[in-house]
Amino acid sequence: VNTSSKPDISREKSAELYEKAKTYFPGGVNSPVRAFKSVHGTPLFIQRGDGSHIWDADGNEFIDFCCSWGPLILGHNNVKVREKVVEVIQNGMSFGAPTALENELAELILKNNKYIEKIRFVSSGTEAVMSAIRLARGYTKRDKIIKFEGCYHGHSDSLLVKAGSGLVTFGETSSAGVPKAFADETIVVGLNDKTALQKAFDDFKNQVAAVIIEPVPANNGLLLQNKEYLEFLRDICTQNGALLIFDEVISGFRIGFEGAAGYYKIQPDIITYGKIIGGGMPVGAYGASAAIMGNVSPEGQVYQAGTLSGNPVAMGAGIAQLTELLRNGFYRDLHNKAEEFTQAIQRFASARNYKFKVFTIGSIFWFAFTDKDICSADDIDPASMEKFKKMHRELLNRGIYLGPSGYEVGFISSAHTKTDLEKAKRAIFESLDLVFR
Ligand code: PLP
Repeated sequence: VNTSSKPDISREKSAELYEKAKTYFPGGVNSPVRAFKSVHGTPLFIQRGDGSHIWDADGNEFIDFCCSWGPLILGHNNVKVREKVVEVIQNGMSFGAPTALENELAELILKNNKYIEKIRFVSSGTEAVMSAIRLARGYTKRDKIIKFEGCYHGHSDSLLVKAGSGLVTFGETSSAGVPKAFADETIVVGLNDKTALQKAFDDFKNQVAAVIIEPVPANNGLLLQNKEYLEFLRDICTQNGALLIFDEVISGFRIGFEGAAGYYKIQPDIITYGKIIGGGMPVGAYGASAAIMGNVSPEGQVYQAGTLSGNPVAMGAGIAQLTELLRNGFYRDLHNKAEEFTQAIQRFASARNYKFKVFTIGSIFWFAFTDKDICSADDIDPASMEKFKKMHRELLNRGIYLGPSGYEVGFISSAHTKTDLEKAKRAIFESLDLVFR
């Protein structure tokens, strides 16, 4: 094992582009995490992706485990997705009128997912969740929602809310610009805490429209919940006349075609999707029973619309990608590959007594510098992120690209080959030896 650090990759062109970008965009980026604030160096500007590999502006090549934060379950530039997009584009980009492609994508999803009966396409995960919350409020005629500390649901006002102090609190806004009045409608409780949730329902009797959770919380580390706790959520919502919303923007089509609902065999009332559903194009969706979806305009009174909703090019990409996922053995093969990879890393770290755990489900993994079980946001030691920062730098220097934050999960795609994963393992072993030296 090489125990010496490698020289840092060249970032001249990326640094130059970043300087320019800073004159155009706040912080030089169009989404904050891209700014590399919690890891070493300036952001890498990516020029090209193919399969499991990406290339930056300086020509550095990486095996990519960020995969655009999840959408690219088939890897970059998949030939089927690309060809479908090119085929659709020949006929124009957008009409703002219905197309057969929307029917086709809806049919693919609804025929193969028994947890929703009707769906509405939007253009991002944020929009999907924001609309689902409005639907839940319109349907129940109640205003309050309950969310969990450590779950992310996009950047709409009602959801940029974090826990205050105390077991059950009105949320505090987690962004400037969110009125306190919005945060007052959002109650925040800890994950995996039945008492707090029960108390929230007791304190706000007949006021809670919905409980929203990432059933596989994957935005603040990977905070896997046990099935029994998720079943408890289902029951307590039913008992209190509140809707249960599964935010499956990450887990949908990722841990199985039916996402976490299918994995845990739990029927939520509304499910939100994003990422994979659009094959790398901007798509989100929310779905529910026909009775609940009947409340959405123009059928019902809950208004929701979009100029580019159901955009034909995006629908084409989604159709091509989801068709691949439905092939026999797709998830089995992907999950076996991921399991072999993550287990090898855990074995290596355990054999050396490193305080390091790989949390994983399906093809999602998270590296945590801890020897504890982690299932709520409070379990994560912020000081451990220094170790991630060091690891991230060593991995970049060895041609491995992880998302630039220790709170972010990694994704394995069907394009990752055995050779890629062997190379990545070696790089991870070397980096761990350096971090724990
Ligand atoms: N919900 C979850 C669970 C997410 O992970 C994300 C984004 O990462 C969102 C919602 C927001 O999706 P988008 O970034 O497409 O707006």
